[in-house]
Amino acid sequence: MADLYLPGGKLADQITLTGLTATGYHGVFDHERQNGQEFIVDLVIHSTFQRAAFSDDLSHTISYADVADRVVEIIEGEPVNLIELLAERIADAVVAMGAWAVDVTVHKPKAPIDHTFADVSVSVRRTSVLLQSPKPAAQVVVGIGSNLNDPVTQVEIGAGKVARILEYERMSNTRVTSAQVMPGTPTQPNYINAVMVGYTTLSPLALLAELQRIEDEQGRTREERWGPRTLDLDIVSYKINGHEILSDDPVLTLPHPRAHTRDFVMGPWGEVDPWGTLRGKPVRP
Ligand code: AMP
Repeated sequence: MADLYLPGGKLADQITLTGLTATGYHGVFDHERQNGQEFIVDLVIHSTFQRAAFSDDLSHTISYADVADRVVEIIEGEPVNLIELLAERIADAVVAMGAWAVDVTVHKPKAPIDHTFADVSVSVRRTSVLLQSPKPAAQVVVGIGSNLNDPVTQVEIGAGKVARILEYERMSNTRVTSAQVMPGTPTQPNYINAVMVGYTTLSPLALLAELQRIEDEQGRTREERWGPRTLDLDIVSYKINGHEILSDDPVLTLPHPRAHTRDFVMGPWGEVDPWGTLRGKPVRP
């Protein structure tokens, strides 16, 4: 299948697993259900190695051994009539394991075809919700912060740019917050923070790419994790039809893992969206 390009234009990284073979009982004929036959699966997992390549830590990528175990479990599991459905089940399972997208081909080389043939297969691509354009538009909450290079102006300019990529947006008042200083790091100037709520048809990863583009335009660099910043834009929450999209992907964790503990997020959010909820709890206590 075609390469997968990520929002922002970068080619996704890939893990490829081919020729994974197991016996299953899928098919419409009795003899297929009774005797079983070989099914062979090829997979291309599209993701990013951004974190894993930096940390060299297996927990920061998708383990191909775990994927292989899960796929074999599905092949050997509940029989289905069609390999189309088998391919879809496998694809859904791999996406649930954290893939941004997966291409699955299921081969059935001993399929009941009354002629000489080499192989028969079906292929599907499934993408994670992180790459899907929402319908209707998603309701999003964006956190805005700055504590460098004239933070008031940075937040004003940043908010103006964020407003251009959202619809029906509402912006909170700004507030001044003292910086949380991590042990062993130098003190920092105060932050200016604000929150913007609005709607978008950008997928979660496309919205993140847009926010990072705006951060970059404002001269943001990313060397120091807890360091001061010209402009910091976070996706606090992303809801489709009122349902919070959940992600534990380190590239985009939703809802934002620390937002619910931050008064400088929850306060301004409650101001512009008094009925808003985060993790099922009202934003305004
Ligand atoms: P920070 O320095 O706090 O802005 O963190 C930036 C990093 O956090 C980026 O590499 C993002 O990919 C990642 N990240 C994870 N979840 C989120 C989120 N909900 N909003 C913005 N960035 C996120």
